[in-house]
Amino acid sequence: MNSEELKECFEYVKDLILKCGEILKEGFKDCGEVMTKANPSDVVTIYDQKIEEILIGGIRKKYPDHKFIAEEQAAKSKEAQVLTSLPTWIIDPIDGSLNFVAKSPLVCISVALTINEDLVIAFLYNPLTNEFFSAQKGLGAFLNGNKIKVRETEVLQGSTIATEINFGTFPFVRPQMMAKLNLFFENHIRIRTLGSAALEMGYLAKGTFQLFLCERLKPWDVAAGALIILEAGGVVIDIKTGEDYKIMQPNIIAASNMKIALELKKALDGIDAKLEEEGKTPKILYEKFIAAGGNIKDLR
Ligand SMILES: [Mg+2]
Repeated sequence: MNSEELKECFEYVKDLILKCGEILKEGFKDCGEVMTKANPSDVVTIYDQKIEEILIGGIRKKYPDHKFIAEEQAAKSKEAQVLTSLPTWIIDPIDGSLNFVAKSPLVCISVALTINEDLVIAFLYNPLTNEFFSAQKGLGAFLNGNKIKVRETEVLQGSTIATEINFGTFPFVRPQMMAKLNLFFENHIRIRTLGSAALEMGYLAKGTFQLFLCERLKPWDVAAGALIILEAGGVVIDIKTGEDYKIMQPNIIAASNMKIALELKKALDGIDAKLEEEGKTPKILYEKFIAAGGNIKDLR
């Protein structure tokens, strides 16, 4: 797509997402039956499904060749989700579904487009708080049409990190999670956990947080937020390599700048090295757990 076509595509999908916002608002009043997927906190409603169908159906109508990697479609399909060079929409119809069913307004619709495996368009929309984040590669990040920038900070101490900590319910993740929390406490890093990783990323982009950390999330939780942070002047790096993050394996540190991202990475590397010595990394503990006949679905 050339820049004119991208602009047209941006506007077309923006309108679709605004329409989906009305459906989300309707469901927020009464979401109907709450169903579960992989585990009891992995919930889904007809509103998740409806919004995803409208987005995919609407985009397909105008762009029949485009591909999709979307949360609810993935939940039903047995096929592995593969990102190719073709234009691909990465969609989470409602990020923060547990908030949604509990009537907490910390939710958003997350939609990103990749071309040649590169993020080019991103939207995060919370119709309940009227926050519409958007970005196009090279053209900046916006909140309700106003340009946004990350909040600069030179030091970890005193900064605020957003992260999801409920993976600590898995016994094999718990020692690592507790060590991370200790690290934050010791360094006076304030912790926020909103229950919507995508929204947390939007908030980093607008300067609410200076750091964001996530592991074990899905591509649709992170893709849109990543482009919005990058376009707001921040960084998004792979937690292990410190290089550009992998869209399909979003284990990331996002931050206002590379200095504090790398500082956090170094501290986390230290935690992992210590856990390795003690035989308590998530990987080692997971293997032991499975060897002992554990079932991942029984854990929460
Ligand atoms: Mg979702």
